[in-house]
Amino acid sequence: MLTDPATKHAAHSRNAIRTYKGIGVSPGIAIGRAVIIEKRVASIYRVPIRDEEVEGEVNRFLEALEKTKDELHELKQRVSRSMGDEYGSIFEAHAMIVGDASFADKVLQKIEEEQVNAEWAMSEVQEELQARFLSFDDEYLRERVADVKDVAERVLVNLQGIAHHDLSEIKHDVIILADDLTPSDTVHFNRRPIVGFATETGGRTSHTSIIAKSMFMPAVIGVPRLTKMIDNDEVVIIDGYEGTVVVNPTEAMISEYVSRVSRHEEQERELLQNRDLAAMTKDERRISLQANIELVEELKDAIKFGAEGIGLYRSEFLYIAKSPLLPSEEEHFELYKKLAEALAPNWCVIRTFDLGGKKLAREVMGSKEDNPVLGLRGLRLCMKHRDMFRTQLRALLRASAFGHIKIMFPLVSGVQELRQVKTLVRELKADLDREGIAYDPELKIGIMIEVPSAAVIADILATEADFFAIGTNDLIQYSLAIDRSNENVSYLYEPLHPALLRLVKGVIDAGKKAGIPVSMCGEMASDPLYAIILIGLGLENFSMNPSSIPIIKNVVRSVRYKDCRRIADVAMTKKTAQEIEEFIIESVAMRFPEGLVNKNS
Ligand code: PEP
Ligand code: MG
Repeated sequence: MLTDPATKHAAHSRNAIRTYKGIGVSPGIAIGRAVIIEKRVASIYRVPIRDEEVEGEVNRFLEALEKTKDELHELKQRVSRSMGDEYGSIFEAHAMIVGDASFADKVLQKIEEEQVNAEWAMSEVQEELQARFLSFDDEYLRERVADVKDVAERVLVNLQGIAHHDLSEIKHDVIILADDLTPSDTVHFNRRPIVGFATETGGRTSHTSIIAKSMFMPAVIGVPRLTKMIDNDEVVIIDGYEGTVVVNPTEAMISEYVSRVSRHEEQERELLQNRDLAAMTKDERRISLQANIELVEELKDAIKFGAEGIGLYRSEFLYIAKSPLLPSEEEHFELYKKLAEALAPNWCVIRTFDLGGKKLAREVMGSKEDNPVLGLRGLRLCMKHRDMFRTQLRALLRASAFGHIKIMFPLVSGVQELRQVKTLVRELKADLDREGIAYDPELKIGIMIEVPSAAVIADILATEADFFAIGTNDLIQYSLAIDRSNENVSYLYEPLHPALLRLVKGVIDAGKKAGIPVSMCGEMASDPLYAIILIGLGLENFSMNPSSIPIIKNVVRSVRYKDCRRIADVAMTKKTAQEIEEFIIESVAMRFPEGLVNKNS
């Protein structure tokens, strides 16, 4: 959807060099021409209209409807050509909703009888339709609610005159500048001409940021009013290292950025020299470094950067890739088997789908909640959509016969939830036994520790779970009451907050006492400074985006565990995140004067 430059505030003179500051969430530098995307549909108000305005409003709606039909027809053809008829048929289903006379008639009736604006009439009909779909017994029909929403938004966008923008014809490199991007928007950026993006909203650990990193796509988020300050086609540099967006750079500035890219590539090559060395501290404490992946294509990156297995496979991305269709048991099975076989003898921890919250619930599940981050998310949503969940679990069990798979459940808040899901797994195992289908009888079942209640009762949970993975992205969000995707409070998102460190320490200690492995797969695990204190707190398993592995390995190989322990002991007595950070920086300078890189020994 392209912004009309005429509506921009004249906050800059065109062609002037400008630099905007945001948060760099995915390292790298990208240079291209701006394409501005505004996704937010403006708020919808009920506007009463006069008798003589009804006809105009009816025509406006019919035009938007026709335009939507044309777009869907074209999309169906394009997607069928490039991805096959199965995917193209998604848009056929959408076109059927738009073409359904009862849909259009209802909107027209509302405009005429209630004398209201088309947007309002449309949104009312949309809600009625969604409620009807949700009331069906048939799960397939219930899930079509997402299609209704998708279609209604398309019509609304056309009603509000926001033009769609087709990037497929663009030949030069493109930088996307958007007010907001969902994770599912972002996964589709994984190809030329898009080389980088920046947004107004977001947080360092929002899923959009995490995906950008896994796609090696330079990204900056949290740049206020970005889409109002830059025009389409202006040349833009995204500096994902510094978190800046540079507009209209001079030739000299472009050359400087290009040489920085070469320097970073050189550094990466150097870092990769430690690929086959063990992650062992100088006093011989072994640390295991694994990878977090979202897409199966990242497996090669995990291997390239020396991951010792996958500590977190975010399986929800399989649902996004297939949305609005659901993955079949065979699709789940093939993917998990592929991961297990490729990684053997290393482990692959597969997390069951963590949809919900801000993460894809709308797109995949069609659910809308007032407070989604505290709503139907993670394991709660899995247990509610039991058929969908069974399909995934059965496939996971079957795949476990082909390699080293562990199952992990997201967003567990207490023991009861864990017991319920373990009962379900037992039932599925019994089904497979009856059918004579193999699975790993020793299959380990673990949980994410990312809800404060789970961290507090980690000692109890440790008696019923086979392993823990600390999810600091959510644990920080929930314990500090900081929305991880909200740029306005990102300054309070503090991994070194004493409260968070106490929770993390409690979980590590509980795991040790019960003799179960504890890992950390939140973004905190990929930061060199935090690694020092985590090693000191006794963490032995770190899982992170693949490209951070060599950096953390160098940290591990540069330090002594006993020094890290001393640093952690003192840090735990400090009162603020700032004090702790300063203390770690000073201690590192004092104890490891040669720096945190030790690639040769
Ligand atoms: C976490 O919460 O730290 C985590 C790893 O899970 P996700 O980022 O997918 O919510
Ligand atoms: Mg999480």
